[in-house]
Amino acid sequence: MIETIDRLPPEELTGQHTQPTKRSSDQPECPACKSRSLSTLRTVSAHEAAQFFAPERANAESHKRIHACVTSLWGGDTCQIMSCADCGFGFAWPYVAGNAEFYNHTGSDGVYPRAKWEFTRTAAELRKLNKSGAKALEVGAGNGYFLDQICPSLVRPEDVTVLEYNDKSIPILKAKGFRALSVDLRDEALDAGRNAFDFIFLFQVVEHLDGLDALFGRIGSLLRSGGSAFCAVPNSARIKYQEANRSVPDQPPNHIGRWTPEAFDAICRRNGLVVRSAELEPLSWREFLAHDISYSHIQRAQLNPDGFIARVRSLPRGRMRRLAEAALAALFIPTRLSAWHYVYRNRKNLGGSLWVRLDRP
Ligand SMILES: [Zn+2]
Repeated sequence: MIETIDRLPPEELTGQHTQPTKRSSDQPECPACKSRSLSTLRTVSAHEAAQFFAPERANAESHKRIHACVTSLWGGDTCQIMSCADCGFGFAWPYVAGNAEFYNHTGSDGVYPRAKWEFTRTAAELRKLNKSGAKALEVGAGNGYFLDQICPSLVRPEDVTVLEYNDKSIPILKAKGFRALSVDLRDEALDAGRNAFDFIFLFQVVEHLDGLDALFGRIGSLLRSGGSAFCAVPNSARIKYQEANRSVPDQPPNHIGRWTPEAFDAICRRNGLVVRSAELEPLSWREFLAHDISYSHIQRAQLNPDGFIARVRSLPRGRMRRLAEAALAALFIPTRLSAWHYVYRNRKNLGGSLWVRLDRP
């Protein structure tokens, strides 16, 4: 468990990126609704970000490269985490996504979860829609585990296009019969796909991306009239819990947007889409406890980079380190009980994901 989360959650490594468009000197504006009623939640330094993605003690070279990369993306040493009073969108400012260099240095193991609530929820929605001969596109498809749930019963594999940056996944996706491309959704390779798709899937992708009008405009133009896009993003209430309870923070430039149904509504209105449904994942105690125990362990190492836990985490990967980390994480369980009590009381709002269905009328 702890072994697999000491870097970025790999299923989220889509590698999608655009060029920086905002400098920190620009007047901040909500990327979702364009409001200027904003407040600053915190300031993140490039050192802090580099330390988060590659602790100096564990890998000084990666740390240095990420520091330089992040400074160049931000056009300076710091980034603000802001919150919009009008639509609730939380965002990094400058609103700039990680680029290929950033994701190369932070690394991906290509370990994707086979089952996620948003997979099951979307499959149920497709069953209800019951469209025969539907054409589908998945952005950031990983090894195709979501598509395994809908192919071939609901969509034929030959009618599916997938976009994925992980080189190791491409042969797997092709073997499953999909048309697999290693490009951004906004790449000209997809220009021919205008009005071509009934369904577009973006699971744990949108929170990584900048250029939102180009992105949602593209989704709108690739969908047929009557088509639907399905997105899942981290639940912003869960992020807030993590940050308030010494669990891992949501760190730019990996995640740059914290979405709300209102933020989806605002960006959809400008791009010819309609939010048809928005639902929170029901809290799964199994998922929550596994993440909370490991994330709070990681954060203990982050907060004390010269301490014992950080030293254990900088040991070479292997069985001994895994066992030592599991024992250390278990030791601190009693210190999590009051946070878990809060989660129990607020369990209706603290599921892992926000799921939305966006329709093109
Ligand atoms: Zn807003």
